Amino acid sequence: MEKALIVYSGGLDSFTLLNLAKQKFRQVMAVSFDYGQKHRKELNFASECAQRLNIEHKVIRLPFEEFLSESALVGATKVPEGNYDKEKMKLTVVPNRNMIMISVAASLAISKKINYIWYAAHSGDHEIYPDCRPEFISKLSNVLEICDYHKIVLEAPFQNLTKTDILKMGLEMKLDYSQTWTCYEGKDLPCGKCSACIERANSFKENNAKDPLNEL
Ligand SMILES: [Zn+2]
Repeated sequence: MEKALIVYSGGLDSFTLLNLAKQKFRQVMAVSFDYGQKHRKELNFASECAQRLNIEHKVIRLPFEEFLSESALVGATKVPEGNYDKEKMKLTVVPNRNMIMISVAASLAISKKINYIWYAAHSGDHEIYPDCRPEFISKLSNVLEICDYHKIVLEAPFQNLTKTDILKMGLEMKLDYSQTWTCYEGKDLPCGKCSACIERANSFKENNAKDPLNEL
């Protein structure tokens, strides 16, 4: 039986992945990154949830905001509203974020003798976020296999699923999505206008389900 390290943001997709991993692996550890995101609130959701699941959780600081002021997630640029304009959506890209995060996760995995790293890239991300594409995942996995004598396997089990499919799986697992944070604005309530909020709302709608975050 194996151990897995889950790259866990505190959002809907990685929350589902973390719960799935808990069923599949003997031991699970979670890692989150404080990369200067405006929606740092997701990290509190991540910590509370890991505690509830009795999973060891590490938050690692990566100061992207010190050199990436152009990205709307970490810099002064306003988070764009709506998800229909791809050019606007691209403002939410943090360049090469996943490669850096997964590399750091690999250091942690090697030090803890963990063999599997899971992250929650899904099919809806491919066009906007290049570091979620299947070819990125398979090539990075190849490199991670040889970065140390301890072998690491990188997997993105949701890479061919949409957010709606992921939510469907989680609802079938009876997961409580009030324990997740999605909005790119880190305010008291989800803004309902950013691309992350709109995608999340669409996924609940397509599953004929109500988002418990809106009921709080
Ligand atoms: Zn929002």
